[in-house]
Amino acid sequence: DSTTDQAAKRVLLAAPRGYCAGVDRAVVTVEKALELYGPPVYVRKEIVHNKHVVTTLEKSGAIFVDETDQVPEGATVVFSAHGVAPVVHEEARALSLKTIDATCPLVTKVHREAVRFANDDYDILLIGHEGHEEVVGTSGEAPEHITLVDGPDDVANVTVRDPDKVVWLSQTTLSVDETMETVRRLRERFPSLQDPPSDDICYATQNRQLAVKQMAAECDLMIVVGSRNSSNSVRLVEVALEHGARGGHLVDYADEIDEAWLEGVSTVGVTSGASVPEVLVRGVLEFLAERGYADVRPVVAAEESLTFSLPNEIRRDLKAAG
Ligand code: SF4
Repeated sequence: DSTTDQAAKRVLLAAPRGYCAGVDRAVVTVEKALELYGPPVYVRKEIVHNKHVVTTLEKSGAIFVDETDQVPEGATVVFSAHGVAPVVHEEARALSLKTIDATCPLVTKVHREAVRFANDDYDILLIGHEGHEEVVGTSGEAPEHITLVDGPDDVANVTVRDPDKVVWLSQTTLSVDETMETVRRLRERFPSLQDPPSDDICYATQNRQLAVKQMAAECDLMIVVGSRNSSNSVRLVEVALEHGARGGHLVDYADEIDEAWLEGVSTVGVTSGASVPEVLVRGVLEFLAERGYADVRPVVAAEESLTFSLPNEIRRDLKAAG
């Protein structure tokens, strides 16, 4: 009956969710650049992969471009959180652009590992999604040494020069479990495969997946707030389904939720990708509350306290501006 129905409806709200330290820094970088230099401020690629963030910054005067040569000579350009290949810095220099690099420090760390292993003449197997901006940037650090491995099924295609001098690195926003499977298969082929010096899949990606794993089996439906081109958000839906959620969908906004998804559903899981502002999650919770899912229980898998300081250029100019 409807009374029991009402009582059974609840939301499990994942923690951590939403903004990571690298996204927060990148978004604040563009906001501060707009304040300091006035619009327009050019941004090469989406600063972070979230529709709402990009639209909001556009309204304040940011202009998003795909390539560096679309920026007028001498203008200010921000490089996105996903990082850029060295050739992009060269293009910007040739156009006398003022550059502000909002690459996440955890992506920069992977770039440094790539440079180091390339200098030692290793073959580097970079696990990641073909065409994703981050792997394009990382590969650009040492194109002759890096081979992209796009998941477990791609392992069979890999060739190396010396099977005794091979290391794997990865994109920061992959599924932890799938990556371990890719590594397992790579090691079958190359038993002396070396591990990266530290985890390349970042803390934020790992923690958001961990929270989803803890609650997935209890969820009739998992709603992940995030954009289609956001790698870590897409992975959260996959992880939820693999760990027992009976349905799962990615939405940018609450109004994308189809009422039909809620039919017969008592427990709804809610989380959001690392590029997603909390206001969008609140929108989803309101939507659910209006439909009887007002009982919201947090599922806390980890505490996060990491923050990154803003890029040097911004810190210097903020100081000068007093
Ligand atoms: Fe940095 Fe991880 Fe956030 Fe990407 S998801 S910006 S690597 S902290």
